[in-house]
Amino acid sequence: MKLYNTLTKKIEEFIPYEDKKVKMYTCGPTVYHYAHIGNLRSYIFEDILEKGLNYLGYDVKRAMNITDVGHLTSDSDTGEDKMLKGAKREGKTVYEIAEFYTNAFFKDIKALNIKKPEIIEKASDHIDIYIKMIEKMLQENYAYISNGNVYFDISKAKDYYRLSGKNPEELFVGVRDTVEEDKSKRNPADFVLWFTLSKFENQQMKWDSPWGIGYPGWHIECSGISYLTLGEYLDIHCGGVDNIFPHHTNEIAQSEAYLGHKWCKYWCHGAHLNDKSGKMSKSKGEFLTISLLQEKGYHPLDYRYFCLNSHYRNPLVFSYESLDTAKTALTKLRNKILGLNQTFAVETEKMDRYIEEFKEAFSNDINTSLMLTVVYDVLKATDINETTKFVLIKEFDQVLSLDLTIPVEKELTSQVKEMVLQKIQERIEAKKNKDFATADQIRNDLLEQGIKLVDTREGTTYEVL
Ligand code: AMP
Ligand code: ZN
Repeated sequence: MKLYNTLTKKIEEFIPYEDKKVKMYTCGPTVYHYAHIGNLRSYIFEDILEKGLNYLGYDVKRAMNITDVGHLTSDSDTGEDKMLKGAKREGKTVYEIAEFYTNAFFKDIKALNIKKPEIIEKASDHIDIYIKMIEKMLQENYAYISNGNVYFDISKAKDYYRLSGKNPEELFVGVRDTVEEDKSKRNPADFVLWFTLSKFENQQMKWDSPWGIGYPGWHIECSGISYLTLGEYLDIHCGGVDNIFPHHTNEIAQSEAYLGHKWCKYWCHGAHLNDKSGKMSKSKGEFLTISLLQEKGYHPLDYRYFCLNSHYRNPLVFSYESLDTAKTALTKLRNKILGLNQTFAVETEKMDRYIEEFKEAFSNDINTSLMLTVVYDVLKATDINETTKFVLIKEFDQVLSLDLTIPVEKELTSQVKEMVLQKIQERIEAKKNKDFATADQIRNDLLEQGIKLVDTREGTTYEVL
């Protein structure tokens, strides 16, 4: 298995701390709003990574956090608290917002066939572990108290900038001009471990601590939850590229300060999904969610297929035209697979060659488009029968998770559904008035659109053809 490691900037052979066992941590959602499809691109690549490793025979233990406290709009220690922003927007409590959007996130990942990580922990449930870690960092002078807050002193960290590979000047260009400087910090890049002097007077989530009532900074939650659930040594840590700095940089600094040794071996980052105007965001332009795509008549797996056609480390531009292409290709592919004759004897001995090709494509830094090519190669193959093809593709779909061997239920968008119900009503009226020509016309018009009306004793229903 070869993986690109952001830490070394190289594609490396993957060797976990323990043979064939993988501990994997993936940053979870900040639950102040729906996930946009960009966020979900990152979760799709992480899902493929987990499932692919399983397919190669690794035993993967994966943890994810749910950020419900501490994440400010700037990703560093300035700006508004994202959860409070959500609560204000909807006139609800932070707890209500967190619960609602956590459930919405679970619904989205289910629709995309993303496996729920084995361990999912809410940031607000583990305050004790953050306090324990911060206490030790203070004792060992990695952290200091200033003006009521606890900060991490980045000058004490070993090679603080090694993950981002950038120099401090580059990273803080622009930041200095746009953000008021926190005068309590020794170094502008120092970051908050614990806020007591919050500028958000209406902060709803707060806890007692040795430094006063307050709440944790954003970064400590991932170090804490990873340590608590996966132990002192981590094999893989994932997230989107925006997490490299400051979030993951700070996680390394804290975790290694607390543990006293190297922590995570491989750092994997997914490139962003952008829209035509640039970075995707929840506040500008059309807020692209999975349910919006469903409303427009796409299946969530059309989007998964769209993502898998490009490499996770390449930025991807979203457009409805490309999604249409993906939808058509996936439907054609699925129909071809479902049309395979499944009554022949499976030629198990001939399957290895294709399985090896598929594993190689995955092992080549998660080359998902090549994995899909292997599926097409299997379909075109002349040396195996159709049943063997079906069995092979079903096996590959354990990783791809595109429901390639399952007929996908066709759903109508709510607009079309409304239109069909309206037409059914009009047809009932027409029949009542003995206007059978109109009634038949309505039936035929719908049939042309792929919707068949079915008259039953209970009334008229429809089937999507
Ligand atoms: P958040 O909910 O903001 O904490 O982000 C959840 C995940 O989505 C993180 O791993 C981010 O790095 C990732 N992410 C944010 N924006 C994008 C994007 N446009 N494309 C891909 N991943 C993203
Ligand atoms: Zn994180």
